[in-house]
Amino acid sequence: MISANDSKGSDFIRDIILDDIRTNKWGGRVVTRFPPEPNGHLHIGHAKSMCLNFGVAEETGGECHLRFDDTNPTKEEEEYVTSIKEDVRWLGWDWGAHLHYASDYFEALYEFAIDLIQKGKAYVDDLNQEQIREGRGTLTEPGKESPHRNRPVGENLDLFRRMRACEFEEGARVLRAKIDMGSPNLNMRDPVLYRVLKATHHRTGDAWCIYPMYDFAHGQSDSIEEVTHSLCTMEFEDHRPLYDWILNGLEIHHPQQIEFARLNLTYTVLSKRKLLHLVEDGYVSGWDDPRMPTLSGLRRRGYSPESIKTFCDRIGVAKRQTAVEVALLEHCVREDLNQRARRAMAVLHPLKVVIDNFPEGQVEELEAVNNPEDPAMGTHKVPFSRELYIESDDFREDPPGKFFRLAPGREVRLRYGYFITCAGFDKDESTGEVVTVHCTYDPETKGGQAPDGRKVRGTIHWVSAAHALEAEVRLYDNLFTVERPDEVEDYRTVLNPESLTVLTSCRVESSLVDAAPGQHYQFERVGYFCVDSSDSRPGALVFNRTATLRDSWAKIEGGGGKQA
Ligand code: ATP
Ligand code: MG
Repeated sequence: MISANDSKGSDFIRDIILDDIRTNKWGGRVVTRFPPEPNGHLHIGHAKSMCLNFGVAEETGGECHLRFDDTNPTKEEEEYVTSIKEDVRWLGWDWGAHLHYASDYFEALYEFAIDLIQKGKAYVDDLNQEQIREGRGTLTEPGKESPHRNRPVGENLDLFRRMRACEFEEGARVLRAKIDMGSPNLNMRDPVLYRVLKATHHRTGDAWCIYPMYDFAHGQSDSIEEVTHSLCTMEFEDHRPLYDWILNGLEIHHPQQIEFARLNLTYTVLSKRKLLHLVEDGYVSGWDDPRMPTLSGLRRRGYSPESIKTFCDRIGVAKRQTAVEVALLEHCVREDLNQRARRAMAVLHPLKVVIDNFPEGQVEELEAVNNPEDPAMGTHKVPFSRELYIESDDFREDPPGKFFRLAPGREVRLRYGYFITCAGFDKDESTGEVVTVHCTYDPETKGGQAPDGRKVRGTIHWVSAAHALEAEVRLYDNLFTVERPDEVEDYRTVLNPESLTVLTSCRVESSLVDAAPGQHYQFERVGYFCVDSSDSRPGALVFNRTATLRDSWAKIEGGGGKQA
């Protein structure tokens, strides 16, 4: 298990890179790249990749390029490019002068293909997609050589130039590498390098009707940018022989590809395809729905960049595929917000309390601490008056054992305020629901201490009814009910129907009147919240719950989490 206390340390990739610096392998240089395909928004898995690529560059004085791997014109959009740049910057990473697009290399990639053809290492095939697939063979059977495999170089050059000139229909001809149809690695059985696609590209428009496949674009883009270490996820391990074969064939700068395990999180899906379905099918309100594991979703939920980077440091980098507990991610945001979030009082399920012996119309200002973890954050005032709201479950008509909050005849402390004693309550005759609790306060207990030294077991939060602001509060839970939704055939069958609870008549203390979008708070005893950046307005505040106060990770670790 990953310890929550692991600090940023080394890993096998950093070891390799430090070794290369020591042996001057790349002239001491370190160049990495983060290569998202602009076909979706970034998620927490991409954060892991960024923390590795940008992190290593930062630690070694190297550089990390942001490269859009935009070689598939049919699925990519400019909207994604914009949001990806925003998310990278939000996490605090800087690509400096190195913003690149694989599509900027289309001409160079074409020339590389010509070079391979001239060297007898690539050929134009007339087989269609289906025939190529059939001829590829299986893990147990070798593939069949295409009848076009031994075309003369001149004919291949001519046909490939005509592919570029849009003389052929989609699927009619492809360019293939001439490697080995008997290779045990299916990626080496004459893989397709270029295909005809009559699609408009978001950056190159209609300039091209042939597009390079990922395996042909990626390594050559790395080479053009003089990347030294091409860090990618494990599924590319079987592609590495092809990466190396093409670069060796072209005799150009040859980066080292190193693979590491993707991040998987419990109760979460991280495939862009599945996330897109969740959006398109309306299971969430958008890519930035606070339940989404996207960076925009986490940001809107109230996650800070620091908490996400801490999480990435703690999970580390290795080759073994595991699922990280989502509780660790929540632990990291709690730890961060505990230091920075201003405290405030908010009542999610209001129950009216009348202090019968407090003069009507009188208002007292009590002093509340902004953050006990950071005295420099100071204090703020909260108004106290005759009518208050408390959390309805802080009162019980018939309290069970060990219930130390308000009940008939019981005395409790109001946070930052006085001791109050319950004198009685009113019920709605028709529903049997308690609607008002009557209390008396002890004026001698201001500040929460009784001069006679008597103790109370419970402290509850409250707001002044006349001053509090009405607010909407959105409570979030996991999107899925099972730990590994990826392993379920249809993830829609394991969606959590209670992943969102909207509470519309909550009351928050009046000092939150100017709460700015994205602002973090700890609502005392309730959890960490932030002002929703899309829907909150002055006068109609909306808060998202970032995390509860109960830290299940600290419990797993035996650290004894804070209790709500
Ligand atoms: P998906 O399979 O969800 O579409 P992808 O790998 O195709 O994801 P890219 O846009 O190609 O997404 O990813 C950009 C970079 O981020 C790649 O280097 C990829 O390996 C890395 N990456 C993507 N998902 C994860 C993950 N879950 N954990 C770590 N790195 C990831
Ligand atoms: Mg990809």
